[in-house]
Amino acid sequence: MPKFEFELMAQLPSHHLPGGRFRNPWPISDGDWRPGGFWRWRLQRMFGGVPGNPPAAAFPRAHPEPAYPHAPAHELRLTWVGQATFLIQLDGLNLLTDPMWSGRSSPLPFAGPARLAPPGLGFDDLPPIDAVLISHDHYDHLDAPTVRRLHRRFGDRIQWLAPLGFAGWLARHGIGRVAERDWWDDVVLDASGGPLRAVALPAQHWCRRTPFAANHRLWVGWALLPATGPRVYFAGDTGYCPAFAEIGERLGPFDMQLLPIGAYEPRWFMQRAHLSPEEAVQAYRDLGGHGALVPMHWGTFRLSDEDPLEPPVRLRRAWEQAGLPVEDLAILRHGETRVLTRRAPRPSR
Ligand code: ZN
Ligand code: ZN
Repeated sequence: MPKFEFELMAQLPSHHLPGGRFRNPWPISDGDWRPGGFWRWRLQRMFGGVPGNPPAAAFPRAHPEPAYPHAPAHELRLTWVGQATFLIQLDGLNLLTDPMWSGRSSPLPFAGPARLAPPGLGFDDLPPIDAVLISHDHYDHLDAPTVRRLHRRFGDRIQWLAPLGFAGWLARHGIGRVAERDWWDDVVLDASGGPLRAVALPAQHWCRRTPFAANHRLWVGWALLPATGPRVYFAGDTGYCPAFAEIGERLGPFDMQLLPIGAYEPRWFMQRAHLSPEEAVQAYRDLGGHGALVPMHWGTFRLSDEDPLEPPVRLRRAWEQAGLPVEDLAILRHGETRVLTRRAPRPSR
């Protein structure tokens, strides 16, 4: 590496690269992954075959029960819309994570992974949204038509929270009320119980929306830390990495952990960027092993080779094998709402 670049890097946080790009700063165990892996995977898939898509009716659904216009201040009310989209009603605020209501996870309306099951909560049934949290720029997490719809309906009422590199993209859609954050930086929201801190957190992933620009935007998870009341961790998209233990140490324990469990096959290609259900259980433990595990990122878009109904089955098995309390595993159906009224006591550590 040229000396100049080396000196520049010495001043940057370890996940920043010169030129405004980002990277995962820790060593990654990645099987036999190597450049060109994407095409190897697509070829393997073409000749090896993968399980077919189940019909939409195979995915369990529940009638959503959000509170209108807001949930009471002491309550955490969580509704799973699908993939990484949750309506989180917390401390008197209505928050959305990675909002996605479109029929395809794709830049094109007629091609790309189609929705396996309709959104669990209709867009028109949303209560007034106070903040939107974005984890990264992949199409199943950042959907331009949904972003425009939200802005049309709620305007500057919404505080947009995003990782570094998103303000320009949001501005192109007319959105100016944006807080961009780096890993470990926070945004303070005005909630009924006092200030609610939303902290951008490290994850092991990547960003790219066009063939030309990879990792020019950052990827994050988010912690939601109300002054009182339940604490929530939303992981975004992530592979298994040392960040979980550090997040648990610095900000845990959490009362709800929203962890991705799908898009893991084939492992040699996917494990860098996506947790398997077994790794999600390990991540839950690394994060402090406390509160409910709510799985996400399954049963919505087909992005990988596993049977789309397999992730929750494997998760339940791994949970039982780990001897964790059955009541703490909250596998939500599409549209299902889960309510937590009190913050669990902190375990002695
Ligand atoms: Zn992703
Ligand atoms: Zn994803």
